[in-house]
Amino acid sequence: MKKSFKYRIYANTETIQKAEKWLDLLRQLYNNCLSERIMAYRENKESVSVYTQMRKLPHIKKEFPEYRQISSQTLQDVLQRLDRAYQNFFLRVKNGSKKAGFPRFKGHHRYDSFTLKQAGYKLNGKYLLLKNIGKFKIKLSRPAEGTIKTITVSRTSCSKWFVCFSCDRVPLKLLLKTNKEIGIDMGCKSFLTDSSGNKVKNPRFFKKSQRLLIKRAQKLSHKKKSSNRRNKARILVAKAYERIFNQRKDFHFKVANRLLKENDIVYIEKLKYFKTFRNLNRSMRDAAWFDFFNILKAKAEEAGRKVIEAPARSTSQICSSCGTVVPKDLSVRVHNCSFCGLIIDRDYNSALNILRLGQGLRGAETKVSAMN
Ligand SMILES: [Zn+2]
Repeated sequence: MKKSFKYRIYANTETIQKAEKWLDLLRQLYNNCLSERIMAYRENKESVSVYTQMRKLPHIKKEFPEYRQISSQTLQDVLQRLDRAYQNFFLRVKNGSKKAGFPRFKGHHRYDSFTLKQAGYKLNGKYLLLKNIGKFKIKLSRPAEGTIKTITVSRTSCSKWFVCFSCDRVPLKLLLKTNKEIGIDMGCKSFLTDSSGNKVKNPRFFKKSQRLLIKRAQKLSHKKKSSNRRNKARILVAKAYERIFNQRKDFHFKVANRLLKENDIVYIEKLKYFKTFRNLNRSMRDAAWFDFFNILKAKAEEAGRKVIEAPARSTSQICSSCGTVVPKDLSVRVHNCSFCGLIIDRDYNSALNILRLGQGLRGAETKVSAMN
C-alpha cells in the first residue's frame, strides 16, 4: 500500500533562505514554461508536451547556472506539475464546468513545495540533509513505514516547513471483521447521519475559528498593500485558516476511524466534483465532505475495509421503506410517507437509501465478476 507521512522540519535562517531561493527558481521555471505553452498555442496553434519541455532542461541549466544546484528530477517534477494543471483544466472543460480555471501564473507565496526523488537527500537520525540546501531538524512524531519513494519539502503560508515522505509497500493494519455494513448521509445540521439512525454533530469549534478568520480577513483588507503590517495580517489570516484545517482534519480522522472500526463496508454518496457555489459557506462545507471521504477511503484501504460510493440521486426524496417519491424541500426535516406510513428523520431516511443503493450496486458488481 502507498501512504504519505508528513513531519514538521526546522532549520537556521541561512538554510531556510536557500530553500526559499529554490522555491523562487522553481516558480520562475513553472511560469516560463507556462508562458511557452501559451505562446506556442497563440502563435502556431501548437501544444507543447511535457517531454519537449523536459528536453530543454539541460539548455536551461547551461544558460542559467543557478539552476545547476537543483537536481534534474526536481526540475522535471515542476514540468509535470504544470502538465497536470493542463490536464485537469481540459478535464474540467470536458465535464462542462463553467469555471474551468486555466492554469495560472504563480505569484510570490504561491509556489510552495518541491519534490526530490532518490537522489538529493539523506535521512540521518533526527536530521534531514538536502543537497545544496542544508540541514533540517525533523520532528518524527511517528516513524515512516515502507520504502520512501519521493520526498516533498513544503512551506505553509505562515512560513512553517514540512517534509512529506511518499512511501510504497507500507504494511496494512487489518481490522477484525464485524459483519456489519453502514450507509452514511452527509448533512448540514448534523455532520452525518448513519443508517442505524445515529448522528454525528457538526463540531462547533469550526464556527468559533471561522469567526476569528472573518475578523482577521477584514483587518487584512484594510491594510496598505505591500506594507509590513499587511504581511503580519496576512500571516494571522493564514494561521486562522491553518487552525480550522487542523481541527477539521482531527475531527475527520476520529469519525472515519470509528466508522471503519465498527463496519466492514461504509456506503457513501458519490459527490459531484466540479460544483462551484457562490456561497462561501456552502463551498467550504462541500470541500469538507470531499476531504472527509478521502480520509475515509485512505483509512479503509489501510484497514482492509471497503468504502463504496452510491450515485445518490434524490436519496432524500425516496421513501426508504416503499420506494415512493415524497417531494420535500430542504426545510422539511421529517420524511413522512403517506403511502406506507413511514415517519422518520429526513437524514436517517437518506442514509437508509444510500445503504440500499450501495448494497444493490455491490450485488451488481459481484454478478458481473462472477460472469467473467
Ligand atoms: Zn413509504
